[in-house]
Amino acid sequence: MSETQTLEARVRSVLSEIKDPETGRKLSKQIHGIVANENEISVKVGLTSFAAPLKTDFQNQVTETLKTNFETDTQQIQVEVTEHDRPAQPLGQVGLTAKAVIAVAAGKGGVGKSTAATCLAIALQRAGCRTGILDADVYGPSIPHLTGVRGQVTKVDNKIQPLDFNGIPLMSIGFMVPPDEAVIWRGPMLHSAVTTFVRDTAWGNLDYLIIDMPPGTGDIALSLSQLLPITGTVIVCTPQEVALIDAIKAVGMFRKVKIPVIGLIENMSSFVCPDNGKEYDIFGKGGAKIYAEQAKIDFLGEIPINIQLRQRGDEGQMSANFDDENIASYLERIAYNLSRTLAEKAAASPVQAQLPVLG
Ligand code: ADP
Repeated sequence: MSETQTLEARVRSVLSEIKDPETGRKLSKQIHGIVANENEISVKVGLTSFAAPLKTDFQNQVTETLKTNFETDTQQIQVEVTEHDRPAQPLGQVGLTAKAVIAVAAGKGGVGKSTAATCLAIALQRAGCRTGILDADVYGPSIPHLTGVRGQVTKVDNKIQPLDFNGIPLMSIGFMVPPDEAVIWRGPMLHSAVTTFVRDTAWGNLDYLIIDMPPGTGDIALSLSQLLPITGTVIVCTPQEVALIDAIKAVGMFRKVKIPVIGLIENMSSFVCPDNGKEYDIFGKGGAKIYAEQAKIDFLGEIPINIQLRQRGDEGQMSANFDDENIASYLERIAYNLSRTLAEKAAASPVQAQLPVLG
């Protein structure tokens, strides 16, 4: 074996020990190229679109690992992160092809749950993830309003075609019936609507399905959890104490129906006055973070009160928030933190490799 081959083999073995952020498994099959000699170490490693928000972290981690193991200058190390294709497997009995199902919920209405759900989905998609939005807030579907997407669903080959929001498949009761009809639905009708949403809709191959849950009671949560494994719930709350009490109730409800609560978002956490740049904590600050720590839930981030955010919601222009430097970084942070939380969970209990289906 020549010197060069030996070094390449050593680089491969070091890289193999790094964990894939999506599965928590060894990276071995995601090494797409190695050039290693006395002048340089250049590697090409694959990351799935699911873990795309962690791309910079991943690149840094690979660089650092090589630097430490081979005592090489950073200038001599090149790490290219390419997309590693790993399609989602069908979930549960309904066969939805998604890698994570994230329910965005709140203890009560009006805290910005739909706003947060929409922004989370856009942020994940902008980072490179295949994302869908399901508006399951059947009592008050506001996603059509926030996204500006209107229309009626159509059927192709017996599958309902979701509407398109800048490349994000979108499904809402608002696309099926007039809003005043949906509010009177109860029990079995709601269950069958939710089943239609997840089983009979052509979602395609998704990394994330973001579900905007109705506030309060657990009917829809229970229906959904019977249909497919929900990866986790993200609770949205505002900072004042009375709102936190409702959020705590929501956490209790999800835990009761055995859906893990994985993150907390504090919305309307502060207000920067556009006239004088001064920051005001209108509803107080930090309560949600303290509670998240106590309840062992990851704090995913905060969204300030922002007049444009509200206006863009009313104009169906939510994507424009990502061109606004006063708000974009907060929204991107939440998507990043969610990905990191999921990666930590995968690292702690690696996903089993999918075995080939026999027969
Ligand atoms: P929910 O889904 O909890 O009922 P919405 O997301 O529909 O709440 O938000 C309720 C209202 O509050 C909307 O008009 C929305 O634009 C506004 N809103 C939400 N979050 C913010 C924020 N951080 N700053 C300003 N307005 C907000």
